Amino acid sequence: MLKDRRSRLTPWFDREQLDCLVVEHLPNLRYLAGFSGSSGLLVLTRDQGWLICDSRYTLQARQEVVGLAVLEHGQRHEALAQLHNEQGWQRIGFEAAHCLVSTQQELQQQLPGATLVALPAELDEIRARKDQRELEALADVASLASQALQSVLPLIRPGLVEADLALELEIAMRRSGAEAPGFDFIVASGERGAMPHGRASNKQIQSGELVTIDFGAVLNGYHSDETVTIGVGRLDQRQQQIYDVVLEAHDRAVAAVRPGISCKELDAVAREYIREQGFGDFFGHGLGHGVGLEIHEKPTLSPRSEAVLDEGMVVTVEPGIYIPGWGGVRIEDTVAVTGNGCRLLTGVTKKLMVV
Ligand code: ZN
Ligand code: ZN
Repeated sequence: MLKDRRSRLTPWFDREQLDCLVVEHLPNLRYLAGFSGSSGLLVLTRDQGWLICDSRYTLQARQEVVGLAVLEHGQRHEALAQLHNEQGWQRIGFEAAHCLVSTQQELQQQLPGATLVALPAELDEIRARKDQRELEALADVASLASQALQSVLPLIRPGLVEADLALELEIAMRRSGAEAPGFDFIVASGERGAMPHGRASNKQIQSGELVTIDFGAVLNGYHSDETVTIGVGRLDQRQQQIYDVVLEAHDRAVAAVRPGISCKELDAVAREYIREQGFGDFFGHGLGHGVGLEIHEKPTLSPRSEAVLDEGMVVTVEPGIYIPGWGGVRIEDTVAVTGNGCRLLTGVTKKLMVV
């Protein structure tokens, strides 16, 4: 399985005539080597590989990493230099998108005589198309998080503090086996809903408000991402109208997801509808993003995206309307692109819930 993933790098080796490839971005270490530690370095040639880690992770690496040598070393770039001396590599590729200038300078110092080849973010693009195991992991984590949200819905009432709701949701996820929350949950009620990324605050939820809850969990390294906007008490006509506009934009975009559609086109499906309804100025962010070992991955669904959807990609669809001084509505699902459409991974209903 991981060997198959590593074999997807072969075109890089050919095109750039690489002798070896150095990977330091942790989600890529997990993807290519199965290593889940918080520090390490992966060195791959066409047919060999080494996972370099310090003593905190040696035991763990020996358990997790299959088919690669595990090298323990306190200074991973020195260990890389030793390998380089032994093997006589010339052209060494590194992930330009994830490398600090200072790291690049250090690599250059440690590897005299080698040519460092800056590789674009193609590894991140390889990760955009999920394999079967990943699709299962993403379905599992999405379902866990959706169920956790369902379990805390009865707590929502006037007087509940946003941060307390976020805490209860995290506890529910952890009880169900989540490794961690996927990110700082957004719980934004009333006027705070106008902030697309308004983290849960000490504000109390009031009757007559909309509450946007953006939440997700991590399970086996994979993330989920879902947003519901819930009404508390009686809602007025404008709140219902704006909710309906966002829901229709969301439904149209989900219905349009299929292999071959460009991410720009998909974004436009939701954006055009919101604009036609008179709210074009209030949907500032892109329609969605890939989800996987990271909460935000390739591809990006936005008016500027050059990506095209393909079977196996997992993306969010999350249109929103945010009006300063009034509030906001966002509705988000995570979907897996199938052969002819998509499959919803997130499970909370998107019909307007009023509690
Ligand atoms: Zn989200
Ligand atoms: Zn999202």
